[in-house]
Amino acid sequence: MTIDPAMLKGMFSDIAQAVSADRDRLCALDGVIGDADHGIAMELGFAAARDAVATLDQTADPTAVFNTAAKSFLNAVGASSGPLYATAFMRAGASVKGKQELSDADFVAAFQAMAQGIRDRGKAEPGEKTMIDAWVPAAAAAADALAEGKSAADAMRQAADAAAGGSEATKTMVAAKGRSARLGERSLGHEDPGAASAVTVIRSIAASLAAAPRSPAG
Ligand code: ADP
Ligand code: MG
Repeated sequence: MTIDPAMLKGMFSDIAQAVSADRDRLCALDGVIGDADHGIAMELGFAAARDAVATLDQTADPTAVFNTAAKSFLNAVGASSGPLYATAFMRAGASVKGKQELSDADFVAAFQAMAQGIRDRGKAEPGEKTMIDAWVPAAAAAADALAEGKSAADAMRQAADAAAGGSEATKTMVAAKGRSARLGERSLGHEDPGAASAVTVIRSIAASLAAAPRSPAG
């Protein structure tokens, strides 16, 4: 399939809807080991990204869509998830520079660039109980699926499953980065809100790709 800017705009709209529906659960998770604002931050960020990319005209390429999403997300979100997702979108944009449409491989590369961007920006390692514990296994699963000849939609579905496993595993981790790190051992037993929201984001990306019309070439 080919993924064009209109599909990417639709994807931001789908993610905005999904995180908004999940807002209260994400705030509740953040209430346990953080400051209870994560659902609001994600809702505000993706709503801003959705609205900003919707105003782009027909000539905007995928890089412009991602860069616009990055800027608007950063401006809308004061919490630490703001710069993390903004960096993710900037890196996605840079990874597809010069392309008018994305192949399945381009899309998976952009997805991997997002995970790497979050990793670079936050300097968190796997096992430190952050969104990285969902994003890193998700990116690896997507790359593996693509290498096995799967479509981007199937690769993202596998990525979402891997993210869910990673997020579940954060319950067994002691927070070492971000606000919840100050709780130390008391963070044990609780799912990391940023990892939980990553599952929601990645599941909605998978659903958006699966629902997208097939190009005539298949
Ligand atoms: P804040 O902690 O500023 O209120 P949010 O509530 O929006 O920000 O987001 C909290 C989430 O951000 C955490 O659950 C964690 O997943 C993620 N996070 C925090 N610091 C880092 C970091 N350095 N690297 C990656 N993710 C991080
Ligand atoms: Mg918070």
